[in-house]
Amino acid sequence: MGKGTQAHLLHERLGACHLSTGDVFRAASRTNCIQSPAMTAALEYMRRGDLVPDSTVWEMVRERSGCVRCQGGFVLDGFPRTLAQAEALNQLMQEEKISLSAVVNYELPLAEIVSRLSGRRICEKCKSVFHVTQQPPKAAGICDHCGGRLYQREDDRPESITVRMEVYERSTAPLIQFYQHLGLLLPVAATGSPEEICARTVTALEQRSQPVT
Ligand code: AMP
Repeated sequence: MGKGTQAHLLHERLGACHLSTGDVFRAASRTNCIQSPAMTAALEYMRRGDLVPDSTVWEMVRERSGCVRCQGGFVLDGFPRTLAQAEALNQLMQEEKISLSAVVNYELPLAEIVSRLSGRRICEKCKSVFHVTQQPPKAAGICDHCGGRLYQREDDRPESITVRMEVYERSTAPLIQFYQHLGLLLPVAATGSPEEICARTVTALEQRSQPVT
């Protein structure tokens, strides 16, 4: 819902490492290599719009835990999404003797979220993101940048969006309180252009890191 775009922009602005759990699963779904049974099951959950089981997600994050030691810092995109994942992340951070600076919660009315997801189209070649009405390509179905074909993510179809919204309420929304208690929650309005949202995020992060006088 735009968080991937924001994580990418933050990666460019701040030089931080970008780890997207969703991107790892999407990359796995594109390879022709034989998948482990856990990954095959994970991709089926993803197609339905459901969450991948914590154990599979955690195994994948652990494999990439070097990201948290990156010099420029790191942006976790789409992770954690459950309380169990957040607890596991806390444990990892303690082991690595590092702490999170902030947990950004992008806020947008539900109707706008559904409209953004259902109209989203992605270039199969260069992965540029378009929207059928809010950011249409010059020629329908064709990427402006590389001429690649635009497609709709399976989990952006109406039936999967409904599942994703339910799963969000049940499993991910409780993280808001969890990180609020830890004093890490940073709410940011997700309205406006990607650049505006990014600028708002950077300002909010900078304000947080300034010592209170
Ligand atoms: P995203 O690109 O972050 O929207 O993720 C796409 C899909 O990947 C989600 O709808 C889930 O099926 C799966 N996924 C990504 N991250 C996680 C996570 N942290 N926990 C469980 N499932 C995840």
